[in-house]
Amino acid sequence: MAVDLTRALLLIVGPGPGIAVGDVRGRRGGGLEIEVALSGRPCCGGCGGPVWAHGASGVRLADLPAFGRPTRLVWRKRRWLCPQGSCSVRTFTDQEPRIAPPRGRMTARAARWATRRAGAGRAITEIAAELGTGWHTAMAAVHRWGRALLDADVSRVDGVTALGLDEVLMFRRGPFRDKQWGTTVVDARRGKLLDIVAGRSAQGATRWIQGRTSGWRRRVRWAVMDLSGPYRRAFGDALPKATQVADPFHVVKLANSTIDEVRRRVQNDTTGGRGTKHDPLYRIRRLLLMAHERVTERGEAKLRGLLAAGDPQGEVRDAWHAKETLRTTYRIGDHQLALEALDELARDLQDDTYSPELNRLGRTLHAWRTQIANWHRSRVTNGPTEAANNSAKLIKRVSFGVTNYDHYRIRVLLYAGKPDWTLLDTLTPRQNAKSRFKLP
Ligand SMILES: [Zn+2]
Repeated sequence: MAVDLTRALLLIVGPGPGIAVGDVRGRRGGGLEIEVALSGRPCCGGCGGPVWAHGASGVRLADLPAFGRPTRLVWRKRRWLCPQGSCSVRTFTDQEPRIAPPRGRMTARAARWATRRAGAGRAITEIAAELGTGWHTAMAAVHRWGRALLDADVSRVDGVTALGLDEVLMFRRGPFRDKQWGTTVVDARRGKLLDIVAGRSAQGATRWIQGRTSGWRRRVRWAVMDLSGPYRRAFGDALPKATQVADPFHVVKLANSTIDEVRRRVQNDTTGGRGTKHDPLYRIRRLLLMAHERVTERGEAKLRGLLAAGDPQGEVRDAWHAKETLRTTYRIGDHQLALEALDELARDLQDDTYSPELNRLGRTLHAWRTQIANWHRSRVTNGPTEAANNSAKLIKRVSFGVTNYDHYRIRVLLYAGKPDWTLLDTLTPRQNAKSRFKLP
């Protein structure tokens, strides 16, 4: 029975030439322990001469479950001594990346498996439970191997012609649950998440873009963003020749938040601050934000009726009209005509017969008129960025408890960054991978 088990394990472990499988033991709690060792005698890495045996020690590595039982590989690592007095090498231990990279606490195949699972959006706690290890061991393996994969996949960010920047809430941290923001860097043409930069200032995004080759930057024709100063600055500094485009989604979103502001103020004024869910304006808050063509006849009647009841000065109605007029400019096929329509709207909204909120919207539209109208030339949106952000949100759900930017970045890119997974089987993480975290 023991012999058969060992043979079966050979197939599962698949150690290959030069690796010998030894004893298989049951562990308390139902797990298995498999002993492996390298066979054959190495030469000295310094002088190439013969070496003397100098003891051995067992290294326990988390491995893939065998026969449905959590499994540990116990690698009997031999120590060797070079007898040559003139050689720079004194002693060294067995190294075999097919089993595990240096200082690894998990076998290479278990670490690859964990990394793939993380890429499929599985929670680290779940992966750790399946391997019978702790969260930190699993996270460290995913981080180390995932990072090696992303570093090796150099063509992942190639060929970008439309670059998008967008802010994303990564996670909350600290006793006051402070929001930690990041910036997603996206291929807006192909809808691919390229990277996540810590923070949402111009600096981080600028540095990322400047980290590309000049050839890469020359190819970027469109620079897509929300209506934020920092990203405009980042593009202006790092991609001065790219044409800036304001993402339609964010432009309409700004008009919608203006409706919300006006509605809350008017609601407050008319009800004396005693706002309840029965307020006419509160009851139509969603209908106001909905695209007009999607509002049903019944919704339309409700909208008109409750506006008449709760909006005596017509301020909310004006804000709604501004939003719908803005949306209409996106249906204009011609860039120049769209720009003229936008200019007209921006000018109108700044008229003092309108509310201060609409005046401000008018000023913003004017300040961004070029970028907004450029959409009609580029037809690229950060819609793909939004998709990437939604992926990031999903990751946030499955990676509950991750409060570390590096871990977050690796996990989101493995999940939503479409890395070339075939590279994972061929690579071994470098020994001194730059990481502030304990290696697996
Ligand atoms: Zn030597």
